[in-house]
Amino acid sequence: MRSLLKAIEKGQTLISDGAWGTFLFELGLENGDCPEIWNLTRRQDVLHVAKSYIDAGADMVLTNSFGGHPIKLDHYGFKDKAYEINKAAAGISREAAGDDKFVLGSIGPTGVVLMMGEVPEEEIYEGFCLQAKALEEGGADAILIETMMELEEGVMAIKAAKASTNLEIISTFFFDKTVHGYYRTMMGVSPEQMVRAVKEAGADIIGANCGVGMDQMIEVVQAIRKVDPKTPVLVHSNAGMPVIVDGKTTYPESPEEMAGKVKKLAECGANVIGGCCGTSPAHIREFVKVLK
Ligand SMILES: [Zn+2]
Repeated sequence: MRSLLKAIEKGQTLISDGAWGTFLFELGLENGDCPEIWNLTRRQDVLHVAKSYIDAGADMVLTNSFGGHPIKLDHYGFKDKAYEINKAAAGISREAAGDDKFVLGSIGPTGVVLMMGEVPEEEIYEGFCLQAKALEEGGADAILIETMMELEEGVMAIKAAKASTNLEIISTFFFDKTVHGYYRTMMGVSPEQMVRAVKEAGADIIGANCGVGMDQMIEVVQAIRKVDPKTPVLVHSNAGMPVIVDGKTTYPESPEEMAGKVKKLAECGANVIGGCCGTSPAHIREFVKVLK
């Protein structure tokens, strides 16, 4: 079995992939479409995304399953296909990654606030279990629970993935800079609180994704490292703050600009570096040039 932890232990900074959503929109996904159904209906396009990142030199590739929780798929009427959709997501990325590269099975938030109690907790937990199991069966090497904002949901997803698979678990939260200059998720979670809670829940690798750009991501990693010098850290940074130009969402940080900061990010303690919204294979190619 491929172990991301063992690969990280060897000491070299590993490179992850870039954005999926941004890429799928370029391939014709429209606002209001379900990206994950493409695993069944437009397999070649999804494979093209995964392959593009592997070809760019990434050591690992995610899966097109960010919104694959049954509760999210239910918005599109695909709840019954949740297992099939997630399994296919991992299978596609496995095909692109071959035997040498890693596949990280992506799990995003449900969009339900646990504290509000709108949906029974068991239903949310069971959904995470189903998703993680399907991703493992499809060929994922690790589960990446990403873009979390609420501590309770992040912890629940980690526990569910831990209980239903034998895979290594990565947990990343989405932090924003407050007007006071420190970092919090939208639900008010600090990097320090996140570290404590996700490690206790069983996360093997911790970190942050999305965010507002590379400079801020460096500060988030510094905040994590202040309380935890040891646990491997993975980051997927946005290409800056999105701006709307002519009705289209664009991201300001160019591949060269972002790549100019990956060394600093690694020095501050990031072990795996990739991109989130607005990044492309061109960004990953530049990361590879700088780090390899
Ligand atoms: Zn993002």
